[in-house]
Amino acid sequence: MILRASSELLTQEGLNSFAQGVITHIAALIGVPPEGVICVRKRGQPAEDDLMIIAAAGDFCALIDRPLSAMTEEITSHLLRESLNNRCNVFHRNGVALYLGSHARGDMSCYVASNAPISDVDQGLLEIFCGNIALCADNINFLERLKNFAFTDTLVGLPNRNALEEVINQFIDQESCVPYSLALIDIDSFAEINAVLGQEYGDRLLCAVSDRLKAKFYAPNTVARIGGDTFAVFGPSSHVQEKALLQPFVNPFQIGGELQLLSITAGVVPLTETQGRGSEAIKDASIVLKQAKSQSRGQVVMFQNQMVVDARERLALLKNLRSAFELNQLFLVFQPKLKLSDLSVTGFEALIRWRDSSGRFISPGEFIPLAEQSGLIIRMGEWILRNAIAELAILRAKGYMNASMAVNLSVAQLEHPDMLEMLQRVMGESNIDPGFIELEITESIAMGDTEANLKRLEQIREMGFKLSMDDFGTGFSSFTYLQKMPINCLKIDRSFVIKTDTKRGREIVEMIVQLGKTLGLNVIAEGVEEEGQGALLKQMGCNEVQGFFYAKPMPRDQLHQWLAERKNRS
Ligand code: C2E
Ligand code: MG
Ligand code: MG
Repeated sequence: MILRASSELLTQEGLNSFAQGVITHIAALIGVPPEGVICVRKRGQPAEDDLMIIAAAGDFCALIDRPLSAMTEEITSHLLRESLNNRCNVFHRNGVALYLGSHARGDMSCYVASNAPISDVDQGLLEIFCGNIALCADNINFLERLKNFAFTDTLVGLPNRNALEEVINQFIDQESCVPYSLALIDIDSFAEINAVLGQEYGDRLLCAVSDRLKAKFYAPNTVARIGGDTFAVFGPSSHVQEKALLQPFVNPFQIGGELQLLSITAGVVPLTETQGRGSEAIKDASIVLKQAKSQSRGQVVMFQNQMVVDARERLALLKNLRSAFELNQLFLVFQPKLKLSDLSVTGFEALIRWRDSSGRFISPGEFIPLAEQSGLIIRMGEWILRNAIAELAILRAKGYMNASMAVNLSVAQLEHPDMLEMLQRVMGESNIDPGFIELEITESIAMGDTEANLKRLEQIREMGFKLSMDDFGTGFSSFTYLQKMPINCLKIDRSFVIKTDTKRGREIVEMIVQLGKTLGLNVIAEGVEEEGQGALLKQMGCNEVQGFFYAKPMPRDQLHQWLAERKNRS
């Protein structure tokens, strides 16, 4: 009975219901009806101060949460005081006062009425039980703190995702007829703000946002923080409206003397539109938010059925992609890179291709993000690297001993814990020097854990690989960050090359070339489609080019043919 009672007591939520359970179990142990009280003396409370009753059963029920002085039964209150003052068990013919030990909240004693004398054996058992209770009480405290951690966001003190789910579930169970909506609010460019102004600044900003949302959406609304910079508002649909959601962000935030205007994107789902429980509602709202982020940044977007349809389509595409990968239906094409000074081939970029079972080509721009989101990119990335190296080995055997092979690397790959081992593993399968392998990364690595990512890049460089900054200028990276990056090469994005038909466009490209040179980097322009662009880039001092004008990405056989023809011509 003691063991069962202790383990049952541990499942109680909170100290009060725990204490209530203690009375019941002690009464059961000595075979009397549950009638008693539990008193605490708080930590540091003087002996002469009144004590609080935290649990009561039977005739004592009315005394819960009242001071012990409110009790009319003199003998009972005397027994409890004696037990607490002397930290001992007191056995009396009217009942027992058991000292339950000291725990995080203070000392606790329990009185249980019993008009029959308690045998020695029972006294001994009760003593063991009380020892257990003290331990349990500490655990209850610990469990409560754990629960707090599990349901509260420690940074801003708001309910977290778990808590929000619970609130929505409770609402669903109530079957209320007031329509409720769930809004997810995401701060635009928060990752950039964090990267530039520092994490501490970002944290303070999040707290400020949390305060404004709480002030605007008080009960019956619930405000929660469900992810890095994603907040949620759950409340009556008449409250959760576009204007109200934008209102907290109309005025700039003041953090450490700086004024910061924030823009947000939000997705709103009326609860009637989602099926299932809280977690589904959050998922649906996330779908709306995601769509809003990609198409209507800075706005509040309402749920539309089409969004869920799109999300399902993407899921189906991902399923096909997975099986295409397993069935080895993906393949690589290779696009030559040329030196501008003499148009000699310096290397190749490996680009992945997918032709689905109906023969349709699906652009990597469409499926790579899917692979990244789903984690498939980890295995796929290894496969890509392995095959690109295998092709380089073939090209080397054909005499292209100085050619390099560029492989695109997703941030998800870079941040994966197995990244360095993967590189080692794949390199170990060939005897190619890593100096011939160029890993192309994008500026988006500046958005994650920048310190950790920089360290990763350093380690990759130490292994001997070359690193290129791909699509340069399209993303976001501060100059300081770029300076710190251990890269060898800057790839000017195609969108800049296109704009060289205007004076301003030319100035920008020239500036990027200069920037690269200043940092001692090899500068290469992507997406060169016209001879004139090449000439211009050469004039500006750009080192290399890659583009349809020179060569398209080609499957290996075609590439070999292309190389052979060039050789013959020269
Ligand atoms: P990226 O790494 O910047 O690759 C260059 C893209 O520009 C390729 O598109 C290439 O086909 C295209 N391109 C090259 N020259 C020209 C040109 O003169 N004109 C035009 N209009 N386009 C040109 P692709 O193959 O569709 O790849 C798109 C993006 O998908 C790549 O951009 C890269 O970010 C990603 N990607 C492709 N293959 C892989 C891969 O194996 N792994 C990873 N992680 N990402 C890949
Ligand atoms: Mg690339
Ligand atoms: Mg690129």
